[in-house]
Amino acid sequence: MHDTGRDRIPGHTNKQRVTPEIDAMFPDYSIYPECDYAIGYITRGCPNNCRWCVVPRKEGQIRAYRDWKELVRQDSKKLVLMDNNILSCEFGIAQLESMIGSGYAIDLNQGMDARLVTDRTARILAGLKWIRFIRFSCDQTAQIEAILHAAALLAEYGVKPYRLFIYLLVTKDIANAAFRVERLKQLKGISLYAQPERNEREGIVPNVLQKEFAQRFVYGRCYLKENWLEYYKRHDLKKRYPLEAEETEKALPHSSAGTEGRMGNQAVL
Ligand code: SF4
Repeated sequence: MHDTGRDRIPGHTNKQRVTPEIDAMFPDYSIYPECDYAIGYITRGCPNNCRWCVVPRKEGQIRAYRDWKELVRQDSKKLVLMDNNILSCEFGIAQLESMIGSGYAIDLNQGMDARLVTDRTARILAGLKWIRFIRFSCDQTAQIEAILHAAALLAEYGVKPYRLFIYLLVTKDIANAAFRVERLKQLKGISLYAQPERNEREGIVPNVLQKEFAQRFVYGRCYLKENWLEYYKRHDLKKRYPLEAEETEKALPHSSAGTEGRMGNQAVL
């Protein structure tokens, strides 16, 4: 069969596209009987260009995409939105505002940009019904203060930190991720989720220390009782993974300080 590439489901290369007719179809949820929510996008794209992210190349600039009323199911009051940067789009914000009081519970499962939370958007977010969490991303240290500020604005509208869920990118600079964890865990009850950087097309694969950090230190919730340096020493990770520890230390700007010095400076406040 002649394969034009137009009728394949997107996801593997930046060139694959579905036709507008297929894109406009309402999903057949009956083939996923265990799925009890509607899923879709209100906006597509993102105005930013983060080094690690494929969204700008795949989806282009931020723009309006669908009215939330076109996405919901008749048999469910839940809507999961996969928008990548909804707060950067006035249409997206207005759509969220129009959901207040609708009875639908939502999840924005990609994590919002806390730098875009204002008093107005905090009021809107606080007025929405959430399936469980209000999610933000904290991929770099510059976003820490924004998340603390967003949490404070949300608190003014009655949202407690335990309602917040933060995604953390973990590059080979694990000490940087450890620093973000230490700052963010000051928000009592906040949930953290770490994702090691992976981009196989550009040869970026996580090493065992990045995985240990994400899967055991963060996902295993060890961060609640110790910092990364304490965990690192308690599990003797330098001895267990000497090659990866060396690779990690080389990637640090101040490698002469050694893993302990750098991690100590950043991870222990
Ligand atoms: S802000 Fe988010 S969606 Fe936009 S480029 Fe950065 S990581 Fe990707």
